Parts: sequence; C-alpha cells; structure tokens
Amino acid sequence: MSKQIMVRYGELTTKGKNRKAFTNKLAENIRFKTKAIDPDMKIAIRHDFILLNWTKGSYESVIEQLKQVPGIQRFEPTYPAEKTLEAMAEKALELFKQIEVKPGDTFRVVARRSDKKYPHSSMEVGRFVGGAIGEAYPEMSVDLKHGKHKLVVHIHHKVAYLSLETFAGLGGFPYGTGGRGMLMLSGGFDSPIAGYELMRRGMEIEAVHFSSPPYTSPQALEKTKKLAAKISEYGMPITFHNVPFTKIQAAIKEHVPDDLSMTVMRRMMVRITDQLASQRKALALVTGESLGQVASQTLESMYAINAVTSTPILRPLIATDKNDIIELAQQIGTHDLSNEPFEDCCTVFAPRSPRTKPSLQSAEEAEAVLNEAISIQTLVDEAVAGVEVCVVDANYLKATEDNFSDLL
Ligand code: ATP
Ligand code: MG
Repeated sequence: MSKQIMVRYGELTTKGKNRKAFTNKLAENIRFKTKAIDPDMKIAIRHDFILLNWTKGSYESVIEQLKQVPGIQRFEPTYPAEKTLEAMAEKALELFKQIEVKPGDTFRVVARRSDKKYPHSSMEVGRFVGGAIGEAYPEMSVDLKHGKHKLVVHIHHKVAYLSLETFAGLGGFPYGTGGRGMLMLSGGFDSPIAGYELMRRGMEIEAVHFSSPPYTSPQALEKTKKLAAKISEYGMPITFHNVPFTKIQAAIKEHVPDDLSMTVMRRMMVRITDQLASQRKALALVTGESLGQVASQTLESMYAINAVTSTPILRPLIATDKNDIIELAQQIGTHDLSNEPFEDCCTVFAPRSPRTKPSLQSAEEAEAVLNEAISIQTLVDEAVAGVEVCVVDANYLKATEDNFSDLL
C-alpha cells in the first residue's frame, strides 16, 4: 500500500492560462525536494490538487519537505488501510493518537465511496468508524456538521484512504514562475529574508555578495554562502556570485569624503549587480533594505543609490519592522547563521558618521572626483570580471556542518 499526500494550491487557481505551467513547475519542485526520500514518487496533477504516492521513506520526512515548497496552500496526508470496517477503525484510532484531543472537542467522520460495489454504505462506514472513535475518546462528542476533527474515509477500489490532519503550506507561487532577480546578499539578518520573501512569491534568485579580503575573512564569505544554501531549501540550488570589492572600497576611502562613502559604495554595488543581472538575464535587483533602519536606508539615501540604474530594485522588507524580520529568520532557519559574528565589507569600511540625507547631487559630485582619479567604469568592469561563481544547495550546509564536527 503506497503512502499518499494530497497537495492543494490556492492562489494558483486564479491564474487562468498560466495554470498548467504553474502546476508543472510545482510538481517539478516537489520532485526535487523529495527525490532523496523516494526517487520513484508518483506525482499526479489533477484538476485542483496534486497527488503524491510513494513507498520509501516516512510520512514525516515528506511532510517536512512539503512545508518548504512555495505554491502549496495546504496538504493532507492520507493513510491507506484495508477495506474492512475493523481495519479502517483501527487506522482511524492511530490517526487520532497523533493529534491533540481536548475535552469538549467534537468530531465527525465523512465517508466517501469510489468503489460503488463496496458492501457497506457510507453511512455504515461512518457509524462504525465513528463508534470506535467515540468509545476510545468518551470526552469527545459527535457533531456531524461542524465537528472540529474531521476524519475523511475514502473507499477506493483496492484500499481505503483515511485523512485527519491538514498542514498549512507556505502559500505564494511555485519557485521559478516569477522571473529572475539578483539578491544582494550580505551576512546580515535582512537580505536572506528579503530573498526568501520573493522566492516564496515564485521568483528565482541568484545571490551577489561583495567581499573585501583581507579586510573581510573567509569565514564571512562562508557564512554568506551558508545563508544562500539555507534559503535555497525553499527553492532550487542558488548560483552565488562573489564580487571582489577591496579595490573599490580602498578607492572610495581615498577619494570620497567620509560622510558620502556609504552612498557611493552602495551605488558601486548596484552598478556591478546590475551588470551581473544583464549577464544572467535577471530583471530585478533585490535588497534587504527597510525604511529608516540605518543611515543608508532613508528615502533620500535610497533615491541617491537608485539613480544609477533603471532596473527595478525590489525591497520586500521596506515596511517590515526589525522584530518581525528576526522572527521570520527564526522560523525559516537563517537566524543562527546571520547571528554568527563575522564582519561584513560595509562594517569594515563604515564611515564614522554617514550622511543620513545625502542628495543625489552631492553623491554625483563626489563620484566625479573619484572618477577623475580612477575610472568608475574600469572599477566596475574589473570587479565584474573578477567575480567567482559557485552553486550552493542544502547539501552545502550539511557538508560544512560535517566538516565542523570533524574538527571537534
Ligand atoms: P542586512 O541585514 O541584509 O545585512 P543591513 O541592515 O545590514 O542589511 P545595510 O548594511 O544598509 O543593511 O545593507 C543594505 C542592503 O545592502 C542589504 O540588505 C543587502 O541587500 C545589501 N548589502 C549590504 N552589504 C552587502 C554585501 N557585502 N554584499 C551584498 N549585498 C550587501
Ligand atoms: Mg548588513
């Protein structure tokens, strides 16, 4: 008897013509997330749900993976049982053991028959199975209309399938259906969450990280790769671009007034990321900026930074409070990685007192001086030419953990 889960997608149903592309993508993503559990999983796309059937691996392992797949509204494990009344009642009790039953709770049993020749009517099945539950849980009463715990018994031709619990999915859209964006990924709390938020809406993400060795350490780079690996669990393996930024930061330090160096540095980052975006056919840049959080995240500052490109810069966290970002980081599993202490290139070269309201004009004037000394275009081209690319996935995280425990 194969194990089974019914996957429901919500918002997708409104998508009309795109629907097929979306469901195919969702099926493909589910396949990717479960292939280590059972490479032979059957994934059948039906009118308004996707049915998974597999034999190797537990329900729990598949449930854990599905919780990380964008585009799933909710999903329902359905458990096989032999088609005798006794076997179905026994399976029902097993399922009730897995949930919390509180005194005063109500329940109901809904029986459906696909096998019309089945000797017992739906009513009889409901009465028998419901009777067994009532006996085992005298504190629960039956409420056929509104029962809190709804057990569905579906009688197929070969077996019966029972389901009791429904799990919430991530919502959003299947990864890869929302175009491609370049995520400017630091080692902080915000940018991984910004990436995650858009991945959940279906956007395919590539990561761009600026590092300034020897001022920033290999550990800082490693930490950021691990963050990319972590969020890749919500999509597909992530292409990671490591941009050499030391020369640019040194040039800025030498030629740009201290209070404008932050603004100019960000403008350089955006120029470089923009160039990578056109190489990679991405149509957006993504940052973890949140209005007012730090000096470089005032509206004036964002205006001055934005002016170097016409590519959309998406800032999914623009209106999110830090507390909520931290909470989300805990939920999706990036918190402890972001919390590691390694320095970022921005912190190393941070000006003592950055201007909170840099005007575009002042930034352009400062850059004109820099450009006289060293061509900005050359700096950008060199940085782009020096980019190191790798791909990180969930296994990357495991591998680094294993290495670490080897050292202990
Ligand atoms: P985060 O928590 O994401 O590090 P932050 O609160 O530290 O953000 P800033 O330092 O102002 O804020 O950075 C703003 C955004 O610029 C980041 O969210 C990120 O998208 C981008 N960024 C900053 N530093 C880097 C870096 N070294 N490499 C790539 N992107 C960066
Ligand atoms: Mg930061």
